[in-house]
Amino acid sequence: MLLRSHFAIINGNVCETIKLKKSGGGIQKTMKAKAGTSRSIVYLTAAAVTVILMLLYWANSDSASRSQQKIQRESYRLGTIVRITLYGDDSERLNKAIDLSMKEIERLENLLSVNIPSSDVSRLNSASGDHPVKISEETAFLLEKALEWSERTEGAFDPTIGKIVKLWGIGTERAALPDPEELREAVRLTDFRKISIVHKEDGIFVQTGKGQRIDLGGIAKGYVTDKIKELLIKEGVSSALIDLGGNIAVFGDSPKMGKWKLGIQHPFRPRGEYFGIAEVSDVSVVTSGPYERYFESDGVRYHHIFDPATGYPARSDLASVTVIGADSTDADALSTALFVMGFGKSVSFLKDLKNIDAVLVTEKPEGTIAYVTHKLSGSFILKESDMKKEMISQ
Ligand code: AMP
Ligand code: MG
Repeated sequence: MLLRSHFAIINGNVCETIKLKKSGGGIQKTMKAKAGTSRSIVYLTAAAVTVILMLLYWANSDSASRSQQKIQRESYRLGTIVRITLYGDDSERLNKAIDLSMKEIERLENLLSVNIPSSDVSRLNSASGDHPVKISEETAFLLEKALEWSERTEGAFDPTIGKIVKLWGIGTERAALPDPEELREAVRLTDFRKISIVHKEDGIFVQTGKGQRIDLGGIAKGYVTDKIKELLIKEGVSSALIDLGGNIAVFGDSPKMGKWKLGIQHPFRPRGEYFGIAEVSDVSVVTSGPYERYFESDGVRYHHIFDPATGYPARSDLASVTVIGADSTDADALSTALFVMGFGKSVSFLKDLKNIDAVLVTEKPEGTIAYVTHKLSGSFILKESDMKKEMISQ
């Protein structure tokens, strides 16, 4: 099946849409499920379609300096399309770095994926809280980060949400409304405070609450993005764009331009249509929105970002949340959490986060408004004439 990437690269006036072939399974399908109930399920495998769908940059191969090379590699990993683009004048160095990056993504996926039976996360889930499980330092670091954000967001972000995620199955062919009793039980099991992580001489051991299931889907891509950035810098790469299904990090100069121009997906428009452009350098940009992955049943749309308190897709008054910050792990957890928290709580939460910027899109009676943090006032350019831009006072 041919996949249309949600990223398009625009060189001057030419829009080149990248197409990928995914091995096994489609990324976007419409299907009828269950005899009798004609129900259309539109699902998008993966947060593939998270975010920022347009990368805009000036330079193409003609305008970049002669010695400047561009190397790009794409793959289907972490349930999404990952794409790494490197710029530099030493093609041998760039090729080596991109090879290592792809291997690193695979290695991390093997630790963190809920779908790979030997992963740390799957081993924890198989133990189901019956006994402590020894996990790698990296998984422990990420789980600790996830718990830190759970604490700070008072449970809006919660990595023990796995039972709820599994019951709904959004993004899979078995997506369906869960049985209410089973959902109540899943909500009862969702509680990040029940996790204990013990660092011992012979390793790090995690004990979850009985019956709990871990899901790091709301933070793992951010972590992998940070690790790839670290690797690329170590390999001497000086300019790169890392895109893990819309979880973006850029560093160094964009060819010719200096700053990178990243278009942010319009929450109500087809993939690839952006409502604004963030001009950024050396940061990560992560968007969460209900349009990324969902299914429809009897005319109601159910999306993939859950309120841990109810077990249902969060009834957020936000149409999308974009978080911009130095650390992609933090930006990833935060974009998910702010979406759950909704506009009012997000605004007050952002006040305490001095090094984080955000674009919160919300519908008001007077129309759709993109609220941006102050520091972004000059670097976020609204392109959509039907939207208004307002400042969030921080
Ligand atoms: P994102 O696309 O980064 O906003 O993350 C959404 C993914 O995170 C979902 O597909 C689930 O795997 C997981 N998730 C959903 N709701 C939550 C939540 N409230 N806290 C933590 N993870 C969540
Ligand atoms: Mg997230």
